[in-house]
Amino acid sequence: MYKDLQGKTVIITGAATGLGKACALRFASEKANIVINYYEEKQEKDVHDIIDEIKDLGAEAIGVRGDVTQEEDIRALVEEAVSTFGKLDVMINNAGIENEVPSHELSMEDWNKVISTNLTGQFIGCREALAYFVKNQIQGCIINMSSVHEIIPWPHFVHYAASKGGIKLMTQTLALEYAPKRIRINSIAPGAINTPINEEKFKDPKKKKGVIDLIPMGYIGKPEEIAAAAAWLASSEASYVTGLTLIADGGMTLYPGFQAGKG
Ligand code: NAD
Repeated sequence: MYKDLQGKTVIITGAATGLGKACALRFASEKANIVINYYEEKQEKDVHDIIDEIKDLGAEAIGVRGDVTQEEDIRALVEEAVSTFGKLDVMINNAGIENEVPSHELSMEDWNKVISTNLTGQFIGCREALAYFVKNQIQGCIINMSSVHEIIPWPHFVHYAASKGGIKLMTQTLALEYAPKRIRINSIAPGAINTPINEEKFKDPKKKKGVIDLIPMGYIGKPEEIAAAAAWLASSEASYVTGLTLIADGGMTLYPGFQAGKG
């Protein structure tokens, strides 16, 4: 528990599922006010269920539908958070997508969709939160959901890897620019985590084993293990931390091929 998160207002994009949902529930258990951004109409029921769960945890929450690639949606998201809870303290830019295509066959449509959701969408979230923090002199906190693929190249996912590589330098640049205002901007780089983005892949036991073989700790991560990293980064325990990519990957980035004296 991080007592200082109590009463803070936290926006989480793409929070109807997976890591965003886990962050919503973790920050609710810290008694923060939660603003759940979701993308699709069909996610409304899930969002209502998450809000009920949050209320059972003794926290407050609202759901706000919006597309992270649309500036006006994200501006409205920040406005709704502030008009409901009085202020904004933490912005978690989590929404992201991926699709597998050999790079020589990748359409501009797919390239643009992934870049605009994962990279431009996170920039819009950063910019709107920063504009609010600067205007209101709030020493807020931003967390961008990156990936181990800001480090590890990923054939057939060039658009995804490029978007996550972009998040790394976007995070560091913004962290440097806003450090004098004591606004902290960090990223989290999850490895392979059990969420809907991996559902199809993990249905195939061979593919799932292939992924586990890349993880020195030997298991697929749980969404709660990423939410715990987000809670720490947002808390005052991380008050001197900015521009960091916090890697939470069971060792995936540690060159697992070199395990047990190989190499
Ligand atoms: P997920 O598919 O459950 O979550 C992604 C969410 O983003 C969904 O709820 C989706 O509706 C939402 N979304 C998609 N496009 C959107 C848009 N335009 N506007 C608003 N929301 C939109 O998968 P997840 O694993 O929870 O992914 C969350 C983040 O974590 C992503 O950025 C992903 O790249 C990153 N990540 C995940 C893993 C993993 O193994 N699960 C690993 C590294 C990084």
